[in-house]
Amino acid sequence: MADQPLALVTGASRGIGAAVAQALAPTHQLLLGGRDEAALTELASRLPGARPWAVDLTDASAVARAVAEIDSLDVLVHSAGVARLGTVEESPAEVWRRHFEVNVVAVAELTRLLLPALRAARGQVVLINSGQGLSVRAGWGAYAASKFGLRAFADALRAEEEAAGLRVTSVFPGRTDTEMQQAVVASEGGDYAPEKYLRPESVAAAVVAAVTAGPDAHLTEVTIRPRPQVSLP
Ligand code: NAP
Repeated sequence: MADQPLALVTGASRGIGAAVAQALAPTHQLLLGGRDEAALTELASRLPGARPWAVDLTDASAVARAVAEIDSLDVLVHSAGVARLGTVEESPAEVWRRHFEVNVVAVAELTRLLLPALRAARGQVVLINSGQGLSVRAGWGAYAASKFGLRAFADALRAEEEAAGLRVTSVFPGRTDTEMQQAVVASEGGDYAPEKYLRPESVAAAVVAAVTAGPDAHLTEVTIRPRPQVSLP
């Protein structure tokens, strides 16, 4: 166990991050990121080699303290994120600031602080982006802008660190069955039908594919869409 590679997964208290943690658990020691300590402790109790890593990623001094224990890191998965729908007219500056604070600035700062540990392990950074990081629909401006920014961050990091041995993978999932999706559908006034959405486990499988790619390979971008349910004749 102790000789397994170490992965830090943010947003592991629920949704896609929790599914990624469960998918990596058989092969990795895990630090489970999030603010909900009870949820992290409960998940850690079910995953051998996993420990809660509870920190608010927008609290710069708390993040700096929390990374101090990490001197070598094989995998950093950024899944923590926020989404609040609204048109441009409905979205004051605070909405834009919050999206950028959590979805971009916190990701950049955590990665920056962990770069020495990632370089030491010739590690991998995986960023859970979104279909909205590739194209935008009405009512998604602030979230999509933050995810376009996250994609730019990933591309810059890859260009700067690939020669040092780091791999950087952006994953672009479509709508996925999580609490975030439930809140989005509720704000749209729609009916929630989980079968219409990706399962978090399917997004986690893409993360595992990127992490387990052979040493000669670098999965730079993975796009995943929900597959329409087709009834065969
Ligand atoms: P979720 O169920 O709402 O989970 C969000 C996670 O982010 C939670 O674990 C939450 O942990 C963590 N988080 C939020 N703010 C934080 C902060 N300030 N500090 C630390 N942790 C924080 O969302 P999800 O659907 O799993 O989404 C995960 C990622 O996938 C996000 O980046 C999202 O944009 C992206 N994505 C989601 C979908 C979708 O349809 N669901 C589609 C495409 C992309 P705590 O509450 O414990 O802090």
